[in-house]
Amino acid sequence: MAGRLAQIAPGVLVATSEIFTTTTTVVVSPGGGCLVVDPAVTVADLAPLAAELAERGLRPRAGFSTHPHWDHVLWHAALGDVPRYASPRAVQVALRERDALMAAAGEDAPGHDPALFGRLVPLPGGATEIPWDGPAAQVVIHDGHAPGHTALFLPDTGTLIAGDMLSDIEIPLLDLAGPDPAGDYRAGLERLAALPGVRRVVPGHGHACGAAEFRRRVSADLRYLDRLALGEPFGDARLTQDWLRRDHHAQVRHAAGG
Ligand SMILES: [Zn+2]
Repeated sequence: MAGRLAQIAPGVLVATSEIFTTTTTVVVSPGGGCLVVDPAVTVADLAPLAAELAERGLRPRAGFSTHPHWDHVLWHAALGDVPRYASPRAVQVALRERDALMAAAGEDAPGHDPALFGRLVPLPGGATEIPWDGPAAQVVIHDGHAPGHTALFLPDTGTLIAGDMLSDIEIPLLDLAGPDPAGDYRAGLERLAALPGVRRVVPGHGHACGAAEFRRRVSADLRYLDRLALGEPFGDARLTQDWLRRDHHAQVRHAAGG
């Protein structure tokens, strides 16, 4: 079950699920609306999240999914019938891989309403911000980690909602099905690193941090990619769980050409 929403910046609330230390971010509009980013993970996380938003007088106006992985395309009826945006590429992949994504969700977080699972709408063509009446939320779309992966940057508070990058507890996880997994990841990371005015970061999994730790995570992830490019086994302080070690070994094998 998610912890209650904690304010990490004015008008930016974060809840953290026990499963995979997954974050849900809520951006508050002064008018009583809110934008709900990557609501996750279990049904037992999402029902109280919706209840807490109602208690706080916040009505979801829109949702956003950072990328087409099962734990980032969830919703709950109590969050309301609002547009749930994602990048056009992310929407395509979520549609194409819907059955596999739903099966994966069923293993770790059963009971989600299939009618709501992955029902995303593409951002309007050429959009640089989420179309809503709250604080500006700029989109940074790249293909690192997943096709059409999108970070949100809130310039008013310097908040970067990074999606599945810049984690303190996960290594860079590449999209090994993509044409250039490490190159796409590096390109996305460099886009985030180049954003001016980042004062805090919310990763999709792990812990929110400030500007100095943001720089440290960028460096750690670039160093990981540099070492990966050598195609030889290496360690990383974040390899604390079996699934991470498995993915790490697969990435090293892939980098080695196998
Ligand atoms: Zn992911």
